[in-house]
Amino acid sequence: MSEERSLNFLEEIIENDIAEGKNNGRVHTRFPPEPNGYLHIGHATSICLNFGLAKKYNGKCNLRFDDTNPVTEETEYVENIKNDIKWLGFQWDNELYASDYFDKLFDFAVTLIRKGLAYVDDSTAEQIAATKGSTIAPGTDSPFRNRTIDQNLQLFEEMRAGKYKDGEKTLRAKIDMAHPNLLLRDPLMYRIKHEHHHRTGDKWCIYPMYDFAHGQSDSIEEITHSICTLEFIHHRPLYNWFIEQLGIFPSHQYEFARRNLTYTVMSKRKLLQLVNENHVSGWNDPRMPTISGMRRRGYPAEALRQFSDTIGIAKRENIVDISMLEFCVREILNKTANRFMAVLDPVKLVIINYPEGQEDIFDAENNPEDPNGGTRKVPFSRELWIEREDFMENAPKKFFRLAPGNMVRLKSAYIVKCEGCKKDDEGNIIEVQCTYLPESKSGNDTSGLSVKGTIHWVSVPHAKTAEVRMYDRLFRVEDPSNEDGDFKEYINPDSMHVLPQAYIEPELANAQPGDRVQFMRKGYFCVDTEVRDTLVFNRTVTLKDAWAKEQRKG
Ligand code: ATP
Ligand code: MG
Repeated sequence: MSEERSLNFLEEIIENDIAEGKNNGRVHTRFPPEPNGYLHIGHATSICLNFGLAKKYNGKCNLRFDDTNPVTEETEYVENIKNDIKWLGFQWDNELYASDYFDKLFDFAVTLIRKGLAYVDDSTAEQIAATKGSTIAPGTDSPFRNRTIDQNLQLFEEMRAGKYKDGEKTLRAKIDMAHPNLLLRDPLMYRIKHEHHHRTGDKWCIYPMYDFAHGQSDSIEEITHSICTLEFIHHRPLYNWFIEQLGIFPSHQYEFARRNLTYTVMSKRKLLQLVNENHVSGWNDPRMPTISGMRRRGYPAEALRQFSDTIGIAKRENIVDISMLEFCVREILNKTANRFMAVLDPVKLVIINYPEGQEDIFDAENNPEDPNGGTRKVPFSRELWIEREDFMENAPKKFFRLAPGNMVRLKSAYIVKCEGCKKDDEGNIIEVQCTYLPESKSGNDTSGLSVKGTIHWVSVPHAKTAEVRMYDRLFRVEDPSNEDGDFKEYINPDSMHVLPQAYIEPELANAQPGDRVQFMRKGYFCVDTEVRDTLVFNRTVTLKDAWAKEQRKG
């Protein structure tokens, strides 16, 4: 599928560059996460894009941690980011850290001061903001703009040496306070922050701004195509300005549209709130749009890659329907997940003409979509668990499941005829009763009957138990970030429903954390990787798109 699609605009740019012999035809990209949170599905797009382009054009892709802000960054995040990228199926050529360039960046700053292109400013953040001007009015020069080169060199050294408090001084590029692009009105290059950094410790108390760090880091690594999201488009002239003034390797920035998904939020700041305020159990809660959440929920890496590829790379901001992602997930699980029977909301079925103590062992196909999928043994006996919803005492005409007088096939076993049910004193159904047709054995059916419904079941004496967690969308509205008020007001209060005791086939009791299976008629499920003392299944996705059906009904 992806081989046949037309080139996206970045591929077109790269193929042009190669044709023109730019950088000797070399392609080198990078994925630059800030280690201030876990990666989400939007990052997965960026990863597939950067690593995918490098692969396609025999190039390289660096993993560079953009760790220039000491306050929000942590080593825990670094490890999880690496883990997620590997799980997605990619391997970086170099693992690098912007903080490794702090010395070089400092030297670059000194170079610009020497060229008269940077100055130390004593103005406060408020003063700087107040003199920026606007899109229709020029800014005004800082009173410190004309310090001599020697003064600037000395003050900048003193900033580094820790002589000043946070916010007391900044280093600014000396460009043009009337520039039509506000980002070029003497942008900040360095700020003072007496903070411990997760890698450089207390070596630095001045830290470079994103704009001064990113392009230069690209250049140091000789990145040919630096791909970022659209909000940085106005930063590009500044990216180029620093590189040109420093006369260093000319990396180029290209922008593509941020990928958003319906019924969730994507910004790490918001995801962090969900975690910190216990709306979810953690960054890898199966309802989170994080890569680790989706992995725990049972989404195959291939589905995330396929999703990134099929949606394409856009130039305009877009919000993609989550059902597109779920479609990719289903497609892959349909081919790869073995089928099992599990009863989530059980009621007992007794086959009154099946001898007590007798059992049958049936061979059941593991996966009808996979000719090499093999079979498994499923035990059968007089008492079975079936889904409560598969029996109705007073059923409408088109109810093809169990109702007095109706016949159904028990999957892989016999045809049974419903004879009635037993109730407790309060009228609750506690047992459904059937007779079976011995000659209707699956695979050797001589009954000549054809029945409309097939239901799943689990033999009572053989059944094992498991906890099953059903998930729904984390938010009630398509785009919670775009609604009035706080996005958390739109959290879906029923996004998780726990079934503490479901019955599963005995064979499933050996399932290992991370195993993905289909519960026939119920959906795709994955063994939870966090809970170890009981067997827990997370519902990955339903078999069909229930929401689409719901919406068609109107
Ligand atoms: P967020 O706003 O979610 O915190 P970010 O842009 O601050 O994201 P970074 O760690 O800086 O997160 O992002 C690393 C890379 O991933 C950047 O190149 C960024 O442009 C890209 N990226 C982040 N979010 C998305 C998204 N939703 N769609 C596509 N690419 C994204
Ligand atoms: Mg960022």
